[in-house]
Amino acid sequence: MSYRAEYIWIDGHEPLPYIRSKTRVLDDDVAEMPIWGFDGSSTNQAPGENSDCVLKPVYECPDPIRGGNDKLVLCEVLVPDTMEPHSTNTRATCVEVYEKFKDQEPLFGIEQEYTFFEAGRPLGWPIEGYPAPQGPYYCGVGAIEISGREIVEAHTTACIEAGLAISGTNAEVMLGQWEFQIGPVDTVRVADEIWVARYLLYRIAEDFGVDASVDAKPIKGDWNGAGAHTNFSTNKMRKSYDAIITACEALGAEGKPEEHIANYGVGTEERLTGLHETAHHTEFRYGVSDRGASIRIPWQVARDGKGYIEDRRPNANMDPYVVARLITDTVCSALAD
Ligand code: ADP
Ligand code: MN
Ligand code: MN
Ligand code: MN
Repeated sequence: MSYRAEYIWIDGHEPLPYIRSKTRVLDDDVAEMPIWGFDGSSTNQAPGENSDCVLKPVYECPDPIRGGNDKLVLCEVLVPDTMEPHSTNTRATCVEVYEKFKDQEPLFGIEQEYTFFEAGRPLGWPIEGYPAPQGPYYCGVGAIEISGREIVEAHTTACIEAGLAISGTNAEVMLGQWEFQIGPVDTVRVADEIWVARYLLYRIAEDFGVDASVDAKPIKGDWNGAGAHTNFSTNKMRKSYDAIITACEALGAEGKPEEHIANYGVGTEERLTGLHETAHHTEFRYGVSDRGASIRIPWQVARDGKGYIEDRRPNANMDPYVVARLITDTVCSALAD
């Protein structure tokens, strides 16, 4: 019997890439995923007269939607002539930085927030006007507080069945907004799994006629934006509070806040206003339990004198390869022997 492999890649759409995928039917005896290709002129990755791009499988897992022997296959995009990474391939440099610092055993847990949309408005919102103000929705229960739970449950089950390191989910502060967390796993793995989990989210929401959006500020005004808080530690940080402080100082060193924020996704000015549990995007500060800081040190970490830090600045639409690479590079450089 043949089986289906869903090849998934990240396209060249600007300012934010989209996920693309297509199905390959493979013979039973094909165990190693073959290289494949696609028309880059339809994904903003190549000109029409030289349109071929290469798909190189880099991460695979069971396909929980199709079941059976079917697989999901996440790919890097390469240029055919040289077989070098395509300019839209942010994974290749993420792998390089991880290889450089992997003796520090970097671990990430990413909190992916997102918003369901139906007929042009957040799921559960009235046809005209607004729902009751924020307050009861975060971790709420009940039909007035919650919308989209059946999709969230289906997505969580799918992530577990795919073998992803999903560590939890919760309803968020704005009605129709949710979160899932992936981690703790290493620099490259967390980014691979976030992309596969996003694919599953879009794909499952599609069956409900709903769109899942990672827009950083889907509704202007007094409504929470959507972030991708990025929790991070190294072996030293998991042993000493000095290393925790060194990591925070490294992220705040001259030029670093600007470099990081410029690469943390689109919509920073709208989301990082200093309100709604954010620090203003022109400010850098870290603090214990401080949800208005750029970097939060969780209270248990301050109590235990070791653990991890939370970078609260990445937007929901960030590229996890870029964010995980930058944090690994900045912090591990400072903590190197
Ligand atoms: P919050 O209180 O900010 O909502 P969450 O519980 O949503 O926090 O997310 C915390 C994340 O931190 C989880 O993804 C978890 O896997 C991750 N995490 C826990 N310990 C570590 C660690 N030592 N290093 C990196 N990430 C960690
Ligand atoms: Mn969270
Ligand atoms: Mn959250
Ligand atoms: Mn958080």
